[in-house]
Amino acid sequence: MKALDNKGQVFECEKDEELHILRHSAAHILAQAVKRLYPEAKFAFGPANEKGFYYDVDLGEKKLTEEELAPIEEEMRKIVKENLPFKTFELPRDEAVKLMEERNETYKVEHISDLPEGDRITFFQQGEYIDMCVGPHITYTKALKAFKLLSISGAYWRADQNNKMLTRINGTAFATKEELAEFERQREEALKRDHRRIGRDMELFLSDELVGKGLPMYLPDGYTIWTELEDYIRTKERRLGYLHVMTPCVGTVQLYKTSGHWDHYKDNMFPPMQVEDEEFVLRPMNCPHHMRIYASKRHSYRELPIRIAEIAHDFRFESSGTLKGIERGRHFCQNDSHIFCTPEQIKAEVKGVCDLIFDTYKDFGITDYRCVLSLRDPKDTVKYHQDDEMWNTAENALREVLKEIGIHFTEEIGEAAFYGPKLDVNVKPVTGNEITLSTCQLDFCLPMKFDLTYTDANDQRKTPVVIHRAILGSLDRFMAYILEETKGHLPVWLAPTQAIVLPVSEKTFEYSGKIYEKLKDKGIRVRLDDRSEKIGYKIREAQAVLRTPYMLVIGQKEEEENVITVRSRDTGESSTMTYEEFEKLILEKIENKSREV
Ligand SMILES: [Zn+2]
Ligand SMILES: [Zn+2]
Repeated sequence: MKALDNKGQVFECEKDEELHILRHSAAHILAQAVKRLYPEAKFAFGPANEKGFYYDVDLGEKKLTEEELAPIEEEMRKIVKENLPFKTFELPRDEAVKLMEERNETYKVEHISDLPEGDRITFFQQGEYIDMCVGPHITYTKALKAFKLLSISGAYWRADQNNKMLTRINGTAFATKEELAEFERQREEALKRDHRRIGRDMELFLSDELVGKGLPMYLPDGYTIWTELEDYIRTKERRLGYLHVMTPCVGTVQLYKTSGHWDHYKDNMFPPMQVEDEEFVLRPMNCPHHMRIYASKRHSYRELPIRIAEIAHDFRFESSGTLKGIERGRHFCQNDSHIFCTPEQIKAEVKGVCDLIFDTYKDFGITDYRCVLSLRDPKDTVKYHQDDEMWNTAENALREVLKEIGIHFTEEIGEAAFYGPKLDVNVKPVTGNEITLSTCQLDFCLPMKFDLTYTDANDQRKTPVVIHRAILGSLDRFMAYILEETKGHLPVWLAPTQAIVLPVSEKTFEYSGKIYEKLKDKGIRVRLDDRSEKIGYKIREAQAVLRTPYMLVIGQKEEEENVITVRSRDTGESSTMTYEEFEKLILEKIENKSREV
């Protein structure tokens, strides 16, 4: 493919550059189309990325909807057809500012002021549209053969939440129509697995604008899954000697000043509220509460390790553009724990946490994950607590322990918590970007800030080490992940409805009712669908929408022979058995947390 650089030279671009140039040029064509339809539009940044391209646009008061992408895409097609040549030119800074001012591009003017003095500014132009850019681009608009606008999201100018929220128009482009078609097929598949869509089908949770953005509410069936997850992990933790507590979702600003969250984490928190003469915040994490619980008593080395755990409600400020169902909300529940131990106990405790993480993954069939040792970025003095010696000690200790217990990991700079390094276990959901499911963090910092102590064997006062850990991470995010991985086909123990009784006609309502009552008495989550709908319709709904593991089809033949026909959600096969046989089967599946239906 031919491309145009910012000196006006046409060159044959390498294959690996091609996609980037196409997508980046598509962003220019998108901007041109938007400007034709919305002349007031002002443009911020519009780069290509690994998935496609986007442009951040200020549309004033106008709120663009996804339906309004079609006319923009149509306009882009027109521009492609017009086959406008891309041209490039350079201006000295003052003329560049003047040109952008004339065109009302205030964001571009602001951007020029960031560029080094003396640099000449390069522009690209196709037809009436001029953009400040370094290129390279395609030579004619017709070279853009396969593209699509995908979605709208929000983004702050310069990614700073104090700035205006702009409209981000996301799209993608490919070299050929075939590649685009394959992308669309995969995207459609991914959309079907989106936990928000599954949650809507199965009536698991609800987002309500009046309640507030990013504050999903769990409906009965969703809450059933949630409490099963809670019971599951709490039972496991109890066996391992964790002590569960419950602490409030708010704390004083002073508490978070003591912990350092106020200095290093304030941007992720809701603003404080004044009550009487104190200031409170919704807590973003419960570490400080647990530190204060530890500090409320004197401790001897003999008591350590102490593992304080909580399924804790937390609140974080997330910009509305990044919210995503229950995967990323402003309220969530952490499966949190703080382990207070001596330095000698670090290894055994980290190993215990890792064992618990991977044991849990085995139960859920999670095999595709990536372990990351997240370190601080020493240059980032805003995000991180400053103490080089402490960081070196903590990072080396965690690295050594992970090596010793045989965890394979990669290291990433700048991903640590503000108080210490951590092991993150990341997974890649079918939809969207990699997320962290579990974490194990080593902290020498908060115990000092909270003046935590224990007396050692020589009756000396020592500072304990704290391990922060989360296994199911945020329960909400974990649930989103499991829903997407299983397409909502949850194992029986997690399924909100485990079996549904489907009488073929009114004639078997009574017999069906008895089966329903017996299962209910056994503690099985069962429903009776006694609507006068066709049996085929009831089965389809139970299987495809509610995703119920077992459908018990009851016709007159079943009643006469005193049996039930059990249809499996996952195999689609039916088998006839007595009530007792079915009861035994389902109870075993629940007890063993079997993933097979
Ligand atoms: Zn460009
Ligand atoms: Zn913590």
